Amino acid sequence: MVGMPLYRDAAIVLRTHKLGEADRIVTMLSRGRGKVRAVAKGVRRTRSKFGARLEPGMVVDLQCYEGRNLDTITQAESLASYGEAIAHDYAAWTALSAMLETCDRLTEEGEPSPQQFILLAGALASLAGGVHEPGLVLDSYLLRAMAIAGWAASFHDCARCGAGGPHGAFNVSAGGAVCPVCRAPGSAAPAPETMVLLAALLTGDWAAADASERRNRSEGSGLVAAFLQWHLERGVRSLRLVERAT
Ligand SMILES: [Zn+2]
Repeated sequence: MVGMPLYRDAAIVLRTHKLGEADRIVTMLSRGRGKVRAVAKGVRRTRSKFGARLEPGMVVDLQCYEGRNLDTITQAESLASYGEAIAHDYAAWTALSAMLETCDRLTEEGEPSPQQFILLAGALASLAGGVHEPGLVLDSYLLRAMAIAGWAASFHDCARCGAGGPHGAFNVSAGGAVCPVCRAPGSAAPAPETMVLLAALLTGDWAAADASERRNRSEGSGLVAAFLQWHLERGVRSLRLVERAT
């Protein structure tokens, strides 16, 4: 281990998979280093607390040795664990899965994104707190995570020419609301209330979001999913599990 740099950072576990007989590779979003992939050695051989702290959705204070390809976890202290609050609620659990998978897709190793870390940590706490409907927490997270990644949707002014809104059409490839001039074939025509809801979710206006009606939440979720999938090359698999009201 001589000469191998050691680092410490807060991190959210995004996913894990098995490595060999006893080890596990843990993919995490760290606060200061962007996405990190690290080996947790021996965690599958014993029922160690160490391993139990490295489940998807957990927030840990992490200590690692930097490796050539993979880092090695030497310590993981729990900062927050939302598993219990989320595991018994199917809607919350599927929302959690979709958030973790999206975060994994939007972040890169070696590219620090403290904003994505703060956003995800806040969304996990919100989901576990149960104050807002899980689907709203998810859609708010997705819109804001995409905005941080450089794909901010517009729900008022025209996303193509900037003409002042509100506009009655939404075009995924244009980036959101489109005016009558910019409206391309295949644009959606969502209810005005749905556009207001999506704008509230993007800006974090929870009073407006919580007061929204089910049909607008459902329509909004469809637009958010289409917007996300347009920007990611393939769909986020977990989104298909999320129960959408119809
Ligand atoms: Zn326009």
